[in-house]
Parts: sequence; C-alpha cells; structure tokens
Amino acid sequence: MRYVSTRGAWHDRPQPFLAILLEGLAPDGGLAVPFSYPAFSAGELDALAGRPYREVACAVLGRYADDIPPADLEGIVARAYTEEKFGGDAIVPLRELEPGLALLRVSNGPTLAFKDIALQLLGELFEYALARAGRTMTILGATSGDTGSSAEVAMRGRRGIDVFMLSPKGRMSPFQQAQMYSLPDPNIHNLAIEGTFDDCQDIVKAINADAAFKARHAIGAVNSSNGARIAAQIVYYVTGTLAARRAPGAPVDFAVPSGNFGNILAAHAAKRMGVPIRRLVLATNENDVLDEFFRTGRYRPRGAAETHATSSPSMDISKASNFERFVYDAVGRDPARLAALWRELESRGEFALAGSPAWDAVRGAGFVSGRSTHADRVATIRAIHSRYGDVVDPHTADGLKVGIEHRDPAVPLVCVETALPAKFAATIREALGRDPGRPAAFEGLESRPQRCVTLPARSGAVRDYLAAHARPAA
Ligand SMILES: *Cc1c(COP(=O)(O)O)cnc(C)c1O
Repeated sequence: MRYVSTRGAWHDRPQPFLAILLEGLAPDGGLAVPFSYPAFSAGELDALAGRPYREVACAVLGRYADDIPPADLEGIVARAYTEEKFGGDAIVPLRELEPGLALLRVSNGPTLAFKDIALQLLGELFEYALARAGRTMTILGATSGDTGSSAEVAMRGRRGIDVFMLSPKGRMSPFQQAQMYSLPDPNIHNLAIEGTFDDCQDIVKAINADAAFKARHAIGAVNSSNGARIAAQIVYYVTGTLAARRAPGAPVDFAVPSGNFGNILAAHAAKRMGVPIRRLVLATNENDVLDEFFRTGRYRPRGAAETHATSSPSMDISKASNFERFVYDAVGRDPARLAALWRELESRGEFALAGSPAWDAVRGAGFVSGRSTHADRVATIRAIHSRYGDVVDPHTADGLKVGIEHRDPAVPLVCVETALPAKFAATIREALGRDPGRPAAFEGLESRPQRCVTLPARSGAVRDYLAAHARPAA
C-alpha cells in the first residue's frame, strides 16, 4: 500500500505508510490518501465475524501499514487495545437498544471519547517509527477539549516524544481541563493561551509555516488530518457491521455525529473496502456546514464569528479538515480537479457540486444527513433514557436524533457513541435532573493538582517557549 496527496504530490513516487505517519500535511498542502482502497472479499469478511477486536485490527491495519512486519504490528495493536485501557475485552462493544437499533460503544478508552481508538494506536506507532528511524519528535497541537486529552494520555511518558498542547484558557469544561492539566508526566506541556480555540489553531499554523523552525524541533502533528487515525477507525466499522448484520452479507446503516469528518470518513473507507454498509447518516449540531453540503451540494465553511458554541462542543467545527479526502474520491481521485476546487474555496469561500458528475458520486456514496439542536439533544437524551435506561452524551444524542429520522426498518441502524456522558455533566443534568455516573478512575479528577503555563495569544510567545523547552531534533 502506498500513499499520495489529494492535491497531486507524491503521485510520481507514492509513499509508504511509515513515511506518511510522521508527516503532517503533504508538501503541497494536501492530505495523504491510499493510492487505492484495499478490498476485502465477502469470504474474508465473514472469516472475521466474531473474532477478537485485536485480530480484526491486525487484519485491517495490515492492509494499510504493510511496511510494518506482521509480528511488529501485532505487538503494536496488542499494546494499544488492552482490556485495562478500554474497560473490557470487547474494546468496542455493540449495545442493542432494541431489534434493529444499536449503539456502537467506541468511547470506553482512557479519556472517554472515540478519539482514544486512533490516538492509542498512534502513540504506539509513533514510538515504534521513531525508534526505528532513531529520531525524536515534538508534537505541537491545539485542542478545544477531546483531542488534547486523548493525545496527551496516548503520548505520556513515551520515549522520544514531547507534546506541547495549546488550549484556550478557561474555555474547556472543568472535566476536560482537569484531564489534561492533571497529567504529571514531564514530556507533556500544557500551554493555556489567553484567547479562543481559533487563536490556538492559528498559532500552530503560523509555527508550522516556518519550515526551518519546524525541522529544527522535528515538529509533528496528531490532528485529525493524520491518515493513520482514519485507518485505526475503519476497524470498528468492520466489527460493528459484523456484529449488527442480520445475515452474512446483509447491509447495515450507520449514524455518525460529525465535526471534522474523520469518523464518518472511516465508515466511507470501510464501505469502499467492501464492508456491506448501505447508508451513512451524517449528523451535525447547529454548526451544519456538512448537512448543507449533503442536502444541496454546496460547501460553504463558516468563519469563527459564524461558528456557534453549542452543548455538543466537539462538533463545533465549520471547516472539516478530512472532508478534502472525501471530495477527492467524489472527483474520481483526480488531484488536479481537487486542487482546483480548493483554490475556488480559497478565492470565493465556497464551491458547489450540484449538477456535476462529482455530485452523482456523492449521492452514490450512500450519504444522507441532518442537523440537531440543543433542544433536540436534550429531548433525545431524555427519550433514550426513558425507553432503554441508557444515558447518552450530547454528541451521541445528535447522532441518534438524526439517525432515527432516517431509520429504515429493513436495515439495522447502528449509532456511533462518540463520548461518554461523564464528560458533559451540565447537559445531562439539564435533561435528566441528575449527574451522569463516572468511571471509578475519574473520581476526584477535578481536585487533583493541575499544571499549565499561561501564554498570550501570540505565535512569537509560543515559539520562544518551544525553543526554550523542546529538545532539538535528533
Ligand atoms: C471529535 C468528536 C466528534 C467529531 O468527530 P469527527 O471525526 O471530527 O467528525 C464527535 N463527537 C465527539 C465526542 C468528539 O470528540
């Protein structure tokens, strides 16, 4: 398996997995995508039914990371997905709410959000790849909450890796803040920025634009544009389909609460690999850029001023970084066509596909969509609790609300649970009049000692801090 950039780079010399793993963006600003999707035959899929998660992970990831010897990959997967980290040996259990309606529980990892599935694997892969290359790496990232804690927990204490994570000072939930700032590991650096999440992201971009500085400190990224994260997420669409299907080969629909388009892109990739997924139901919150696209063909990312702060905050995204990978498929994997659309996006602020062959391809990919509001998610949390006794988090509620709107009795619907309710207590209190339960490991989290450095929202200040505290590239 080799990788190319969505915008044309590497097409003359496609890159192996371990090369794109440590790269951020491609040199042309595009994203790494597989040269072609590996295919699973019906027989190969059936053979994976009922097999342990780690075994399915090796079968799927082995196709994407075929430059890692199988025995090494087995070790990586075994260390990433342990019973201890994921609260049980199923790793991603399927919970049937009623016949034909299920939750896929991908949020049982160490930070209680689905991002742990990808980042726990990434932590192992980075350590492996850096040791092989005799290199070190400085991870520079920005977070509004879930990605930062998931990345820090996955990278804490790892050899050769330092993490500098920017977060908007005082703007995360107390739980999210404590998850990050209470980590005692010396390789984890929390930088609280006196500004918004957008300021944090702009600073990261500005520092990454300085190629010499970037090289001097071997700066890398864990953001959702890392292609290995997508590969990791394909695995649970395979296990989820095999667990929910009514018969071998019978189709399944998935509903996915979406922000940066990373999670649902993995479902799309699984479908392209031959997994019998019929519909992909994309749910947004009030930030409904993607819903607008799938209804109308018009893609119009919003600016910070038009991005609402909602009660499903991990979906408060108006520019979905992974969407480029999907459009690449829609334009027939033609990098020139893709690059032209992104130039149009830059100059006009939008593009429209309706009426073009690309739009037929989008329709043919099985996507439908819808949006959910604060009132919808509160009502859904209540309804799910009273019907089934389950407490779901606000993001999962958005997915359930939109998924159930598109439900078809002929095909099982699996809603992806993207976080546990413990992370979002205020909305649960509003819906149910009580606090959500929390796993024992998180008792007293907010009262643990916290550690962070406050910096002004200027890239120069962060640069100076990095120069003083990051180790030089080895
Ligand atoms: C990140 C996140 C999402 C959005 O997922 P994308 O891959 O960015 O579409 C949804 N829900 C939760 C809880 C998240 O942390």
